[in-house]
Amino acid sequence: MTGVCDRLMWPLVAARRGLLEALLPTTCVGCRRWIGAERGPVCETCQDEIDREMRTPACPRCARAMPTLSIFDKGCAVCKSERHWNLAGTIRVGGYDGRLREMLLRLKYAGGQRESDHLGSLLAARLLECGWLDSIDVIIPVPMHLLRRVQRPCNHAHMLAESCVRALRRLRPGAEPIPLSNSVIQRRKHTPSQTGAASRQMRFENVKGCFAPRKRSSLAGLTVCIIDNLLVSGATITEVAKAARRIGAKRVYGAVIARPPGPGDAPRHVSPELGTPAVI
Ligand SMILES: [Zn+2]
Ligand SMILES: [Zn+2]
Repeated sequence: MTGVCDRLMWPLVAARRGLLEALLPTTCVGCRRWIGAERGPVCETCQDEIDREMRTPACPRCARAMPTLSIFDKGCAVCKSERHWNLAGTIRVGGYDGRLREMLLRLKYAGGQRESDHLGSLLAARLLECGWLDSIDVIIPVPMHLLRRVQRPCNHAHMLAESCVRALRRLRPGAEPIPLSNSVIQRRKHTPSQTGAASRQMRFENVKGCFAPRKRSSLAGLTVCIIDNLLVSGATITEVAKAARRIGAKRVYGAVIARPPGPGDAPRHVSPELGTPAVI
């Protein structure tokens, strides 16, 4: 019963949080500390950490963090050996650590609009430098099942995609806006969250056949960018890409906020002063 009450109360909780955030605009969106006269979305410390994450070299095809020397011919040895990898390119903001992780968790479990807006701006900044942004015809957030939507305070991938599209409009004032669509591909199976999947194999089995094009929808000849908050094994995003290809997508790219460390990534350590990750 408590769970049902919690779910019903989410919109009120989120609305109250939004109101508080509007009244207290000088808290850092990364660490929630007061930032006084700086009045930016993030304080200097958080900005330094995010900048460091954004400078970490990553494979342009699978977004794994790794030394530049390990990236060959627009891809790394790891994704070249992964048969499921069907994305032409993938960008990420950083690793799943520190402030990025905290902002993502507040977005996902508390529907944080400020977090979404800031993360969306960071993703837009990344897209501007990726080299394939101008070829994108449509942006598609990873679809959420209706039952999951009832359980969560927001559809986080959709919120992120909306924030990113808004940021792209600001950053490219003269350019044709890229449309966002959440009506082309649907999540037709309600499966356990990927967060609870214990192994890589379970992640793939969990999402197999989960996504399907909606009736009479088409992406014929279009280049698509799929947006999600997190990329771990790639099981979810490549399954959405498969559905997009089934209705004619010519090329599919991915854009995520974070990819957690995995085999083949650059070594990392936590800076003792900041409690934040740094690349060594
Ligand atoms: Zn901060
Ligand atoms: Zn790669």
